[in-house]
Amino acid sequence: MKKVYILKVSVLDALNNIKKREGGNGMGKYLCSICGYIYDEAKGIPEADITPGTLWEDVPEDWVCPLCGATKEEFIKQGESATTAENKPISVIELSSDMKELSPLEMSALCTNLALGCEKQYKLEEASLFTKLAEYFKKAAAPAKEPKFDNLLELIENDLKEGFPNANAIASNEKDRGAMRALVWSEKVTRILNSILSRYEKEGDALLDNTGVYVCTICGYVYIGNTIPDICPVCKVPNWKFEKIEGR
Ligand SMILES: [Zn+2]
Ligand SMILES: [Zn+2]
Repeated sequence: MKKVYILKVSVLDALNNIKKREGGNGMGKYLCSICGYIYDEAKGIPEADITPGTLWEDVPEDWVCPLCGATKEEFIKQGESATTAENKPISVIELSSDMKELSPLEMSALCTNLALGCEKQYKLEEASLFTKLAEYFKKAAAPAKEPKFDNLLELIENDLKEGFPNANAIASNEKDRGAMRALVWSEKVTRILNSILSRYEKEGDALLDNTGVYVCTICGYVYIGNTIPDICPVCKVPNWKFEKIEGR
C-alpha cells in the first residue's frame, strides 16, 4: 500500500513539473477556429518576429493566421469552451410557411449551385441548362440598391449571427448529417470572408497589391497570398483544386 501511495505522489509531481515546463506560468495557447492552427504564447513565432513569450494580447491586431489568413477574432483560448451558442438550445426561426417566393437573384444563385452540382455528377447537359436558367434570372433581377461595403459586412454578420445557428438547428432537428457537414464548411468560409472584409476595411487596396487571390473550388475558401496552403484549411482537399482569380 505504501508503495502505491508514493507512486501516486510522484506521478502528481511529474505532472506538475510538466505543467510548469509547458508554461504553467500563465502562458496559454490559442486555437484557430477555422483551420486548427495553434498559437503558443510560450513559443511565439520567431520567423514572423513574434518572440517566444509574447502574450496573445500583445500579438499585433493586424496579425493573421499563417495557415488560413483568419484574423485574431477567430481564435479561441485553448481549454476554454467556445462562447458560441453551442450549448444553449437554438430555436428555429418561425416562418409563416415553408414556401417562400425567391427573388430573381436568389433563383439565379440557386440555379448556379444546381449547375455546379450537375457538373460534379458529370451531367453536363443538365448543368448547361441550369447555367442558362441562372443567366436568365440574373438578367431579370433588379440592380442592387446602393452596393455599399457596410451593407456587405452587415449581410455577412447576419448570416453568422442568425442564418447559420438557424440552419444548424434545422439540420440537427432533421438529423441531416450531409447538411450539417456542408454548414460547417460554409460557416468557416463565411468567417474567412468576414476576416478578409475587415482586413480590407483597414488596409484598402494595399491588401491586394502584389499578391495572388485563390478560391477553393470545392468549399469556396478564399486565400490571399503567394504561398498557398498544401491542403484547403477548411475542406482539406489538395491545393490543385484551388483556382487563381485573375485581374480585377
Ligand atoms: Zn487558421
Ligand atoms: Zn476547400
